[in-house]
Amino acid sequence: MFKKARTKLTVYYLAIIMAISIFFSLIIYQSTTFELRRIENMQRIRKPNPAFLIDPDIVKETKSRIFFTLLTINSFILGLSGISGYFLAGKTLAPISKMIEDQKDFVSNASHELRTPLSVLKTQIEVALRDKEMSLDEAKKLLESNLEDVNNMTKLSNYLLELNKFQNSENIIKFKKVDLANLVIDALKTLKLNDDKTIKTELNKSVINCDPDSTKELISILIDNAHKYGESKEISLSLRNKELKISDKGTGISREDLPHIFDRFYRGDKARSHDGYGLGLSIAKQIADNHGAKIKVESKINKGSTFKVIFS
Ligand code: ADP
Repeated sequence: MFKKARTKLTVYYLAIIMAISIFFSLIIYQSTTFELRRIENMQRIRKPNPAFLIDPDIVKETKSRIFFTLLTINSFILGLSGISGYFLAGKTLAPISKMIEDQKDFVSNASHELRTPLSVLKTQIEVALRDKEMSLDEAKKLLESNLEDVNNMTKLSNYLLELNKFQNSENIIKFKKVDLANLVIDALKTLKLNDDKTIKTELNKSVINCDPDSTKELISILIDNAHKYGESKEISLSLRNKELKISDKGTGISREDLPHIFDRFYRGDKARSHDGYGLGLSIAKQIADNHGAKIKVESKINKGSTFKVIFS
């Protein structure tokens, strides 16, 4: 599909360039041969002294030389613009092609993540239906496990919806001046971690222009991760000059994982023992991008991680 589109775009570029080139060549041809035509006409009408007569063959030859020069120039333009048009078409289409590839990967990852628990659920229900001696207790246990799977799938579909929402955020995010410290406190309350003795806060007033709902979501994701991967050790939150720092002393992130943690569905090696789908940080990054904010990470394996969000 990409090759076809590239060829089509090259043909469009060529058609435009050649139309312009031929148009100007015609003007050049007309204006340069105008004088020659005028002399020819004058000679025809006035019949001048043969000593001053310009040989009609020379006039004809000059005209054809101009014609062939212009033809050669146009052939060169055709060749050069063909090559450069093909190159430019490739450059123009490359980001679109990457977007389509990313979208394909996303759809296949999302359907894979949904299909796996769905087939487990289906098998469990089928086996249970065939079991004639299942007790009420066993049936309840199975239903509880099924409910957990359903809850996980709901969580995943919420993540997917959120990712989509923040990617097409132009109409839904509403910027306001707010104190970031209040958003951090709100996020802690919603996460219900504020009674956790392991969280240390040092929050200075920091007024920024942001969409409060999505910014709170970004903060919640980072605090939730610090809690999840923090191995119940101390977590510290500090806010100074529009820079929010969230540090934990937990599992840390390996060098190999670090460049990929913001990719959709990417989960580090050490994360496998915890719940998750690898979507939190990509949502956080998307929200930060929507605000022109930067997210930086420093991490050492088994020592902990520090995530910094720098708002402008
Ligand atoms: P999830 O937590 O669901 O796996 P995220 O997108 O939030 O997905 O994070 C991606 C990966 O980044 C995680 O799987 C984990 O490997 C790593 N990660 C994120 N935050 C931390 C943290 N505070 N400590 C250690 N690893 C982290």
